[in-house]
Amino acid sequence: MSRLPSLFVSHGAPTFALEPGEAGPRLAALGRSLPRPEAVLVVSPHWMTPGPRVGTAARPQTIHDFGGFDTALYRIGYPAPGHPGLARRAVEALAAAGWDARADERRGLDHGAWVPLLHLFPKADVPVFQVSLPSRLDAASAWALGEALAPLADEGVLVTGSGSLTHNLADFRIRHGGDEPYAGEFAAWVRDAVRAGDGERLRRTLSDAPHAARAHPTPEHFWPLLVAAGAAPGRGKWEVLDGGITHGVLAMDAFVFAAGTA
Ligand code: ZN
Repeated sequence: MSRLPSLFVSHGAPTFALEPGEAGPRLAALGRSLPRPEAVLVVSPHWMTPGPRVGTAARPQTIHDFGGFDTALYRIGYPAPGHPGLARRAVEALAAAGWDARADERRGLDHGAWVPLLHLFPKADVPVFQVSLPSRLDAASAWALGEALAPLADEGVLVTGSGSLTHNLADFRIRHGGDEPYAGEFAAWVRDAVRAGDGERLRRTLSDAPHAARAHPTPEHFWPLLVAAGAAPGRGKWEVLDGGITHGVLAMDAFVFAAGTA
């Protein structure tokens, strides 16, 4: 089968499950246009462990790992099956690259995985498994995690980093109306690097992009972007799916990283 691209998605607030905004329809269109994956592998910052863990459950449960939201959100399930075979391949690929990777038979799907998947594959008919985000990453090691997962794309796995293009929860809680300009300026800088296919520049985002410290007071919602880009070796076509800004401060863009032939 032809190699799948890798993907970065912004999962925003859990309410993205009920409020598709601009990003939801774009993810849905992407899901319809991609070759059907054998499985989706999601790296989400809502599962962080010292070394990477891989969910090998055959029937992963939907985890409602958030508090204080509309009760309707807690009734949503995402009943996609797991894929223990490909999940074990992910453990092998990570171990081969030197990561202390292990299987986790009990872990379900956190909202960083199932909320964007509700839009991307709404029928929940594509198997899904998660890989945890190692808790001590930097730009180089986040990229290397993606490189370690890249071979899975040749086996029909859609390697997906789920984070948020901007993620300042203090601003999310206190803001009063209107979009904060910093979120758009930071997002535009990253979009330019993606459109230029410039991985080196992407890895410098948190030190060089405007308002980076405000856009990401902590880096865990940014690292999945580098994981996704690192999983697409070579200089292929990199695409931006403009998701707009929700809640005034959460940039919701998604990026598609096709591998190159170099
Ligand atoms: Zn999140």
